[in-house]
Amino acid sequence: MQDSFLHKGKRRILVKYLKEKIGIKDERVLAAIDTVPRHFFMESVFLDYAYEDRAFPIAAGQTISHPSTVAEQTELLEIERSDKILEIGTGSGYQTAVLIAMGALVYTIERQKGLYDFSKQMFKKMNISPIHQAFGDGFEGLPFFAPFDKIIVTCGAGELPMALLRQLRVGGKMVIPLGVEEEQVLYRFTKISPTEFEKEQFGLYKFVPMLGNINK
Ligand code: SAH
Repeated sequence: MQDSFLHKGKRRILVKYLKEKIGIKDERVLAAIDTVPRHFFMESVFLDYAYEDRAFPIAAGQTISHPSTVAEQTELLEIERSDKILEIGTGSGYQTAVLIAMGALVYTIERQKGLYDFSKQMFKKMNISPIHQAFGDGFEGLPFFAPFDKIIVTCGAGELPMALLRQLRVGGKMVIPLGVEEEQVLYRFTKISPTEFEKEQFGLYKFVPMLGNINK
């Protein structure tokens, strides 16, 4: 896979768009998007469009999220270097790569074997690595590795996954789209004590549904 000057140029334009039109302010998020070749994660027929603000189909009927959605979710997480992050829905691996580029320690779960395998291979090719990559059900999280500083859910959940809130450290933040309709509301939960959360609401987004474990 090649990351040419043309790709880099297109990324720079995308970053300018995210900054000026979408309103992304976190320079660390913008720098990560400028660094990670999104076209690596997409099927060849869509390569020409990799740096437009569009979602595209990946394997198993799933999608790679809009770059603006990746940027907004990541900004809401207020990522610091060495943050321990749980990601639900590895998908193509693009969001994972953005988090790794920001210096985060990423633990990621995907329930589709095809995507788990694809992203694993891609990380290897790119010579990057999440701390832990799991094939399983995101509703359960990764209790063995908890607590996490931040949790990002990249699929729309019908109900709030309580196990994930338990796996967040006090002071930690979880960004999650909630709702079963066509569109979901993006929420940020901040854990202020072992049993208390502050809940903030952001705009409407379109995510693929968060589904239970495929093997059950
Ligand atoms: N960040 C990814 C988004 C992929 S779409 C990207 O940019 O490519 C959301 C992903 O969540 C899909 O790959 C889907 O298979 C996965 N998913 C859905 N329900 C899940 C669950 N219960 N546990 C883990 N992953 C899940």
